[in-house]
Amino acid sequence: MKLPRSIRVIERGWLSANNIVLEERSEAVVVDSGYVAHAPQTLALLERALAGKKLARLVNTHCHSDHMGGNAAIQKKFGCAISIPQGEAPAIDNWDEQQLILAVADQRAQAFSYDDTFRDGDVLQMGGLDWQVIAAPGHDTHAVMFHSPEARVLISGDALWENGFGVVFPQLFGRETALAETRATLEAVGRLDVDVVIPGHGPPFGDAGAALERAFHRLEGYEQDIARLARHCAKVMLSFSLLEKRSMPLAELPAYVARVPILAELNSRYLRMTHAAMAEWLVNELERAGAAGRREGLLLARGE
Ligand SMILES: [Zn+2]
Repeated sequence: MKLPRSIRVIERGWLSANNIVLEERSEAVVVDSGYVAHAPQTLALLERALAGKKLARLVNTHCHSDHMGGNAAIQKKFGCAISIPQGEAPAIDNWDEQQLILAVADQRAQAFSYDDTFRDGDVLQMGGLDWQVIAAPGHDTHAVMFHSPEARVLISGDALWENGFGVVFPQLFGRETALAETRATLEAVGRLDVDVVIPGHGPPFGDAGAALERAFHRLEGYEQDIARLARHCAKVMLSFSLLEKRSMPLAELPAYVARVPILAELNSRYLRMTHAAMAEWLVNELERAGAAGRREGLLLARGE
């Protein structure tokens, strides 16, 4: 597995998506900007990676908080242009907190303005390579991937990870077709010539076929049992919040799951537990997954 020398992956964690720096001569493009709380760290990492090169453009695979939360800070510091998927433009124009899954999920991002948009079928030049823009709906309706047929590299965002893909929301907020979209997107990846996948989270990986197999297996589980997807979704949402806050008082969790709209909606539609039972179940699940632990009345984030 080998990436072209012009591509550098700054691997982050789960709160911040990876930043991908693509260089050509004295200029560079970066894909995705991380979560807003990490913005100072993102700026420092980028400055080091750029080593004096001019950051000409910031491009987003999609506009979730962990991918675009640092856009405003990067634009301010480096004066770069920002390009986003065309489908995301109305949500960014109106700063639609529901569409962007911000307040509804207790997530944050700093508003920004973009310079232009791209869409499925367009070709972007980044790091001296031509990248085909490929629609990647599912995890986010308007997400895209970037594929370089020449380098045989896929920048997949959250459409495909080495183990799975970005959380898909069950029938919430108008996302009725998300699972079917996810299937079509995975099938589209299967039609590409790819030696290396650069995912939005986790290290670059080589065996796209094996990753697709795992992703389809996971998807089939959700297709057969939508409640399973709802449970996964609730766990992902709380884990993400915990990664930002680092700790949460256990006694306040029942009120938290009642207050955060996405958790409340998942519960009333699928889980149907009391708030206290949902909070207790979530804590147990996060502990079991090694994502959290309890100490002195607090739920503490593990890792990152
Ligand atoms: Zn995402």
